[in-house]
Amino acid sequence: MYGIGIDIGGTSTKGVLVDAHMESIQEVKVPTATHHGREAILGSLTEAIDALLKSCPEKPDYIGVGSAGRIDVSTGTVVYATDNLPGWQGLGLKKWLEDKYDVTTVVDNDANAALIGELFLEGPVALEQNTVMLTLGTGVGGANYFFGQIVRGAHHQSGEWGHVVLHPGGRPCNCGKLGCVEQYISGTALNRRVEELTDQPLKNGEDLFRHKDSNLLYKQVVEEFVEDLSTIIDNISISLDPDRIILGGGVVQSRSFWWPLLLDRLQQKEIKTFITPAVQENKAGMFGAAYLGSHLRTEGRRKHEAT
Ligand SMILES: [Zn+2]
Repeated sequence: MYGIGIDIGGTSTKGVLVDAHMESIQEVKVPTATHHGREAILGSLTEAIDALLKSCPEKPDYIGVGSAGRIDVSTGTVVYATDNLPGWQGLGLKKWLEDKYDVTTVVDNDANAALIGELFLEGPVALEQNTVMLTLGTGVGGANYFFGQIVRGAHHQSGEWGHVVLHPGGRPCNCGKLGCVEQYISGTALNRRVEELTDQPLKNGEDLFRHKDSNLLYKQVVEEFVEDLSTIIDNISISLDPDRIILGGGVVQSRSFWWPLLLDRLQQKEIKTFITPAVQENKAGMFGAAYLGSHLRTEGRRKHEAT
């Protein structure tokens, strides 16, 4: 038995072919043609799948896909997407792939896939713990995993921590609200804040953290970041009280410069939730998509047999 997991990212689409034990047989990475709209993104997706099919000894049993946007997992439709993936909103991705490949397909939100992938790659103990993930990248993604399941919610938006309001009446967000988390602690937001204060864009995002002790304005931005991040962690701890919060995304790659500051602030605020960095960034999304493909496919079949 074989399966395929695909992670459609803003810059690259990554895929893995796995066997029945979820062991990797082959991995591919192709650029995501986000600037040319829906057809081009679908082109990147099929390029990745076609490359994996060439290495697959027989027809795969499932395809799992992690995609940006709010996804109705039962129909595999993108119910809401921002312009990060132009033309993506409204797309029936599951149907499109099943029509094209005649393979059972599961489509889920990319942050959900990344969280499951992190837990799966860490091991079975991790899959038993209630965990929330925040990804601090271009935007802020999030996912909630409780009692062995991704919590998706009644409107496919559970875990969208990037669009929880952090500063009421604050910065406008591309979702239409004011003051969302994403507008303060994403990599994009940090770059914008630096440019506001210094009139100079950052050449490299890591410079902000690396030079915080020699540049007072950078120090201010980092302090604001740590304060805002500790507030959202506090809110998650109080509302869901998970065993652990995993922080991932590009901003976390320069964590050596700011992680101790965050831990200090959490201690001052008496926030006890265990915090760890994501460690499988490049592989988590595609392995998580394969995991979801394998599990939800079986679940769907069980439900079908029960009726
Ligand atoms: Zn928002």
